[in-house]
Amino acid sequence: MEEVAPETATAKTAAPFGTAFTSQMTLARYSDGQWQGVETVPVGPLPLHPASHVLHYGSTCFEGLKAYRMPDGEIKIFRLDQHIARFQRSAALLCLPQPPADMMEAMIREVVALGHDDIPDAPGALYLRPTLIGTEENIGAAGAPSAEAMVYVLASPVGDYFAGGRGLNILIEDQEMRSTPGFGQAKTGGNYASALRHVMRAKKEFSADQVLFCPNGDVQETGASNFFLIDDNRLLTKPLDPSFLHGITRDSVITLARDLGYEVIERDFTVDEIKDWIRTGEAALSGTAAVLSGVGAFIHDGERYQVGDGGVGPNTRKLSEALRALQSGRTPDRFGWLS
Ligand SMILES: *Cc1c(COP(=O)(O)O)cnc(C)c1O
Repeated sequence: MEEVAPETATAKTAAPFGTAFTSQMTLARYSDGQWQGVETVPVGPLPLHPASHVLHYGSTCFEGLKAYRMPDGEIKIFRLDQHIARFQRSAALLCLPQPPADMMEAMIREVVALGHDDIPDAPGALYLRPTLIGTEENIGAAGAPSAEAMVYVLASPVGDYFAGGRGLNILIEDQEMRSTPGFGQAKTGGNYASALRHVMRAKKEFSADQVLFCPNGDVQETGASNFFLIDDNRLLTKPLDPSFLHGITRDSVITLARDLGYEVIERDFTVDEIKDWIRTGEAALSGTAAVLSGVGAFIHDGERYQVGDGGVGPNTRKLSEALRALQSGRTPDRFGWLS
C-alpha cells in the first residue's frame, strides 16, 4: 500500500485502499522483440509459468496515478505524461522492454473509459496501476534480462485518504537504507521488499506510521512518499538524485508552492535540521494516494519530537488543499496537468 492508511472512505469506496477493482483491465505482451496487440481482459488470475523471470529475479516495476471526476462529470487524468515517462525510466532500470508512450496512454485511457461508472466523485478517484513484469520461462536467466514481458493496467476506485486532523508518527531511521544509492529512483517491488522489515519494526516497537530513511543523517524519503519541511515562507526538500523516487506529487507541490509565493529550497539536509525546523515549522509527506500528509511527531533514538500541536500544520493544509482543488477541477488547471 502507498503512503498513509485510509482514515475515511466514501460509500462507493468503503473497501480499504487497493482492494477493490473495476471489472476490466488492458494487457499487452512483449515477445519476439516487439509489443504484440493490446487486449481487454477481465480482472482475475493471470496464467503465469512458475519459472517466470519476475517470480525469481524481481523483474517488475509499476506506476500509480489517478483519474478524477470533474465537477461537470468529465473524467481527467492527473499528469499522465509524467507517469508514463517515469514508468519507462523504471523499465529501463530493470532491463525490461520499455512500453511505448502511445501504447501506455491508450491502455490507461481504455481502462478509465471501461471503469467510467465506478469512478467516485472527488476527493475520491480512480487509482490506476500500470504494472510491468518479466515473463520469460527460464530460471537460468538470473544474469540476463527477461526476453518476454507483460504489461497490464489495473484500476481501483479509491476514497479520500487525507488524514484529516491527525498528524502522522514518523520514525527516523538514520542507519539503514530503503534501497540503494542508484536504484532508489526505480518504482519497483524490490525497493518495497527491501524497506519492509524496517517499516514493520517501526510499527511494532514505536507504533510509527512510516519510516523516514536518512542513511548517515541524509534525509531521503519514507517507504512510499517524499518528504518536505514547510514553514510560512519556505519549502525545503532533497534535490533529485538517483537515491530516491522522484515523486510527481513532489514536483506538483513544488510548482504550486512557488506559484503561491513560497521560496522552494532543494538541497540536502540532515536529521538535526529537521529537529531545528519543527520547533516552529511543519513537516509533510507527498504521494499520489494521500497527496500531502502532515507529520505530527518524529521518533528518533527513542525520543519523541512533536511537530507544532501534533496535528496537520496550516501551511501543509493550504498546499494540500490547493493541489486537491486543482486535481479535482475546482480551480483552473493553470499548469496543464489534467488531460
Ligand atoms: C510512488 C512513490 C512515491 C510518490 O510518488 P508520486 O509520483 O508522488 O506518487 C514516493 N516514494 C516512493 C518510494 C514511491 O514508490
